[in-house]
Amino acid sequence: MIEIFILIHFCRKLGALCRSRGRKAGWFQFLLVIAWFGGEFFAALFATVICMITAGHTGPDTVMLEAPFVIVYISALLGAGLGAWSVFLLVKLLPNLKAEEEKAEDRTCSGCGEPLQRRATSCPSCGKMVTAE
Ligand SMILES: [Zn+2]
Repeated sequence: MIEIFILIHFCRKLGALCRSRGRKAGWFQFLLVIAWFGGEFFAALFATVICMITAGHTGPDTVMLEAPFVIVYISALLGAGLGAWSVFLLVKLLPNLKAEEEKAEDRTCSGCGEPLQRRATSCPSCGKMVTAE
């Protein structure tokens, strides 16, 4: 059950990351949950198949019952982690909307320091000509 708390923690971190980059968090958090359980499921399935193939050589007695559970469980967690990581990576790879917004807001007149409109060609305060973006 601790996984659920880890997932909630990741959801919060992803939400903060999205907002800091000027993006809505909802869909990315939804994607995170899908990627988490998807990664977990496929990694577990993959590990189970690998265990069944390798156990085929030694016989199904003890190997099939004891060791695979640990292997499958660890694989599932790694798969979930990998799924979550890829969503964080996706958000980081997307253009940072906030940075562009701030860049536009930071534009000020070189003469008097008055904030300028994004497409302004002259300062509204002192009339100094400025280069438009
Ligand atoms: Zn000015």
